[in-house]
Amino acid sequence: MAEQTTDRIHVELVTPDKLMLREDVLAVSLPGREGYLGILPGHAPLLTELKPGQLSYTDEAVSHYLFVSGGFAEVQPHRVTVLVEASERPEEIDVERAKRAQQRAEERLRKAGAGESEIDALRAQAALQRAMARLEVAERPKQEQA
Ligand code: ATP
Repeated sequence: MAEQTTDRIHVELVTPDKLMLREDVLAVSLPGREGYLGILPGHAPLLTELKPGQLSYTDEAVSHYLFVSGGFAEVQPHRVTVLVEASERPEEIDVERAKRAQQRAEERLRKAGAGESEIDALRAQAALQRAMARLEVAERPKQEQA
């Protein structure tokens, strides 16, 4: 593992089937339940739940963006560990699939409003959040990985 320096954060982003990211970066932003969390080196330790959204990190002068679905993050002063159900880089996102997922979720929410179960509505809301976050990340300028 890289030696800990005071101006870097070691970030590891893991899904059930792959290691998406293992890198020493300058700053990280995470989609926390209560809003985006900006993490700089030396941040106070915390454990937080994540909602579907955008994980971004800054590497030299370049920002990189990834989609992350729900999960958890552990923050230590020079280490951030992120465990999520799914993650994709902008160029890995199938935009048509995300649009179909968005339409299905919106349709289910309309039906839920017409009296279907609350569980179905919550699941559709979560699917809609994932689809919208994927579409947002897919639109990010594609940054070359160092
Ligand atoms: P869908 O209804 O299209 O399956 P979902 O939100 O239910 O979308 P997830 O459960 O978040 O999908 O992800 C299941 C797997 O499919 C993961 O490996 C994820 O990376 C991949 N995946 C889902 N949607 C997309 C997409 N639009 N582009 C690329 N990969 C995707």
